[in-house]
Amino acid sequence: MGKESKLREKIANDFWYGFQNTLQIISIYPEVQEIIINLTYNYDEYECSNQEETKIFTPDHKAFFKFECKNKDCIYGGFNISNEIFNLINSKQESQEGKLICNGYQDYESFVTKNYHCYCELDYKIVIKYKIENKGS
Ligand SMILES: [Zn+2]
Repeated sequence: MGKESKLREKIANDFWYGFQNTLQIISIYPEVQEIIINLTYNYDEYECSNQEETKIFTPDHKAFFKFECKNKDCIYGGFNISNEIFNLINSKQESQEGKLICNGYQDYESFVTKNYHCYCELDYKIVIKYKIENKGS
């Protein structure tokens, strides 16, 4: 197996391992009923440009908020909005919008030469729905 495919396999395994080792939303954020995430990817040179996705997380889903880069050649890329979600829930807020730029390298050559950064962008919008508190008043 070539170096590139070994590296890609390792990255994919790490991603899967991270997913497997993440707890369910209900364990981490018991007050949350639903998390709705709108994702819009912008990557001009590829046909997958301007893709839009909506992901809905319910309490039985894993609290795993990493998304793979849409640039299929990207190395060590992807987007992680776990901190944004943690901060939102921690401060009891309901929504947030933002933009991230992929942290990876745009292809294997760029990774080897540590030269070109991946420019895939992600616009995200997070909406948190909380369970209605029943304090038995
Ligand atoms: Zn990327």
